[in-house]
Amino acid sequence: MLRYLFSLVPGIVLFIAFYLSKSGEMNLLLRDFWRVSFLYLALALAVTPLIALVKKDAFAPYRRVFGVLAFLAALAHGTVYFDAEYTYQKTFFVLAHFKELDVASWVVALLVMAVLAITSNNFSVRLLKNFWKKLQSLTYPLFLIVALHIAFASRFDEFYMITIGALVFLRTLAYLREKPVSMGNTATKATRYRCVPCGWIYDEKYGDPDGGIAPGTRFEDIPDDWVCPVCGVGKSDFVPYEEAYEKNDTPAQVVETNLLNPTTLELVIETQEVFPVIPGQYGRVALRDRDGIFYRSYSVVEADGKRLTFCIKLTAGRGGYVLRSLKVGDSIAIEGIYGSFVLQKNTNPKVFIATGTGLSPIVNMMRSLPDAEKTLLFGVQDSGSLFYTDLLQNISKLTTHIFLSREEVPGYRHGRIDCMQFEFPKGTEFYLCGNPAMIEQVTSDLKAQGFDKIYHEIF
Ligand SMILES: Cc1cc2nc3c(=O)[nH]c(=O)nc-3n(C[C@H](O)[C@H](O)[C@H](O)COP(=O)(O)OP(=O)(O)OC[C@H]3O[C@@H](n4cnc5c(N)ncnc54)[C@H](O)[C@@H]3O)c2cc1C
Repeated sequence: MLRYLFSLVPGIVLFIAFYLSKSGEMNLLLRDFWRVSFLYLALALAVTPLIALVKKDAFAPYRRVFGVLAFLAALAHGTVYFDAEYTYQKTFFVLAHFKELDVASWVVALLVMAVLAITSNNFSVRLLKNFWKKLQSLTYPLFLIVALHIAFASRFDEFYMITIGALVFLRTLAYLREKPVSMGNTATKATRYRCVPCGWIYDEKYGDPDGGIAPGTRFEDIPDDWVCPVCGVGKSDFVPYEEAYEKNDTPAQVVETNLLNPTTLELVIETQEVFPVIPGQYGRVALRDRDGIFYRSYSVVEADGKRLTFCIKLTAGRGGYVLRSLKVGDSIAIEGIYGSFVLQKNTNPKVFIATGTGLSPIVNMMRSLPDAEKTLLFGVQDSGSLFYTDLLQNISKLTTHIFLSREEVPGYRHGRIDCMQFEFPKGTEFYLCGNPAMIEQVTSDLKAQGFDKIYHEIF
């Protein structure tokens, strides 16, 4: 609610500005709903580049709010138009009007906006899955239709020019920041070198100022006593970046992408060889963008022969950016399976605690214990951020307690995960996965209760 109220501010400011500048010509003023609609659409399109520039995911929910407000303002614009027509012509629906390009473009824009506004909720995301993403990309042609409507109505003025200019500027800036064009000519000579043990990349462009290597220093000119700033190995453990990708990574193909909620992607890949996976372990996945190959760790939800399933939060970071556009059939690679966050081999009672996509390794672990009674405490922000609820119901002998930190919903616990609300038997083992704050809090609470078998993986 607060978000909606806050989002109303740009529209209200614009309205007051028009009102003052036109000394209260109410009819013209009301037609300016179209400007308000245009402004909100531009704001919705500005959210993605803004997130990329300021590195704050917090803006993301505003995209939907701006979209809905654009629709409402466009509806108001049309209502006022037809009301004015009625005043003069005493009929609302003059069919001839719909043949006029300005009216026709408004109708098309309004229909598209209505579809987008109606599907701007978590329920639609869950229902439409991947189709939802395709539907939302209608925003781009919509912006064009809205601009055409302005052109057909011969109303292009500085306001529209400035708004379009600002939007183009913002998106260009974000594009250049997100996807810097490689400075080095990697086809003839490598300018980046990868540390084989830890994966850190030495980029000649940036050097290693903390290690006394100035930006621009060629790899061969680095003194022999220099060491990797992350793991401390010497120069000889570095290999050219591109070559490293060819050598160490196993090619794989994307076979499924399922959007579980607006920011959670289930990714299924098929690798060229079978990777033995112990439940709880993660894969180091090689992703590629215009700036080259980079690696991200994702816990395996399920390993079935050559098929590996991951469940990934789509952040505004580099990995999130690439994963958002992955399609079935795309090439991907996996470097290997690692991790010591695995089940202890004993019959102690087991409690699993996860926040967000920290559920991924936990799901794999819990499914590998079909005969054991187990408990899961799972925390997310609100009911719209939930995923895998059906899957959890199908895990045998599992008791699940879901915590919603920012929403009160009957049937769920309200607040952050609080293990003090439970009495666990002596000797219980705990497996924690998710954000650092949860792991720190829960570990200290459990230790205060006298438990010491606590294993965790921090994302
Ligand atoms: C062992 C292990 C297992 C893991 N398993 C999983 C898993 O199963 N599922 C999962 O989702 N994650 C998992 N992670 C986390 C994952 O590896 C990544 O760290 C995480 O997805 C963020 O990577 P990224 O490239 O998307 O963001 P990065 O680019 O690494 O950025 C990190 C954070 O900074 C912020 N940020 C960075 N750049 C921008 C930008 N341009 N705009 C806005 N914000 C920005 C984002 O909020 C992002 O969350 C695991 C991590 C480890 C260590």
